[in-house]
Order: sequence, then C-alpha cells, then structure tokens
Amino acid sequence: MPTTIDRAEAIARLPPARGCWLCELLERAEPVFCEADAVVFVPEYGVRWGHVLVAPRTHLETFSELSEERWLCLCDLARRAAVALERELSPLRCYVASLGSPATDLPMTCPHLHIHVVPIYAADARPSTVLTWSRGVVVSSAAERAELGDRLRKHLSG
Ligand SMILES: [Zn+2]
Repeated sequence: MPTTIDRAEAIARLPPARGCWLCELLERAEPVFCEADAVVFVPEYGVRWGHVLVAPRTHLETFSELSEERWLCLCDLARRAAVALERELSPLRCYVASLGSPATDLPMTCPHLHIHVVPIYAADARPSTVLTWSRGVVVSSAAERAELGDRLRKHLSG
C-alpha cells in the first residue's frame, strides 16, 4: 500500500541530482505508455496515489521549444491518462497542470516541461493544497506503480 511521508523526508530520500531531475527520473521510471517522444509514468513520489506525469523524453524547458504537433501529443496523452484514472480509480475529478519553469529559484518545479495528471477525491480540494508536497508525499513501491500502470495502460492506447 502506498504510504504518505512528509516533504522533508521525501527530499532527504531523493538521490542527489546530477543534472535535470526529470531527465534522471525518466531514465529510471518504468513507462506506463510511450507515444512518439512522450512518456506517461507513475512517479515514485506523488501528491496523491494515482498521480501520473506526462513528459517529453527530450529535455525541453519552454513551450516555445515545442512544436504544435508535440504539444498536442502531450495534451492528448494527459487527457487519456485522466480518462484512465477516471475509469480505474473513480476520482471526483482530475487536475491536469503544467507547472514546470526554466527558472531555478522557484519552489516545487523542474525546468523539464511536464504535465501532472492528479486524481482528486475530496470535494473541497484546491490546486494550492494538491499541487504541492507541503501536505505530504505519496511514496509507492515499484510493484505498486507497475500494477497501477498495467491498469491504466489499457485505456491509453487509443
Ligand atoms: Zn530534462
């Protein structure tokens, strides 16, 4: 069962970053689904169980670097990931957000462009309390992420 730890413990568990945090995560993450240059995966440290990330495998930092075709591919994968979460986990709704920034002095961000897809179960949830590690970080095992990935994958292929 995924467990929740506090932000400080999650940060202490992270391996030291050698470069781009998301590029490193993509190297070791087991993809749920890949299409063109885009990858869907369940992160080791999430804001909720079922939190999925959609990212280009290529390191890109701004929307200006993305072609319309690549952006539409990422967005469609995020939409399909939300559909998969709706069908498998039955949340009240899903948040879909791109929060990355090439700026290095912002909290809770990464320069590598990515999209969060987060299932929401509480009617009173707000983005400011969900899209942060300040209220805890959900940690899952590789087996738990693989099992969820198997459930989501069947909804992502078309
Ligand atoms: Zn990167």
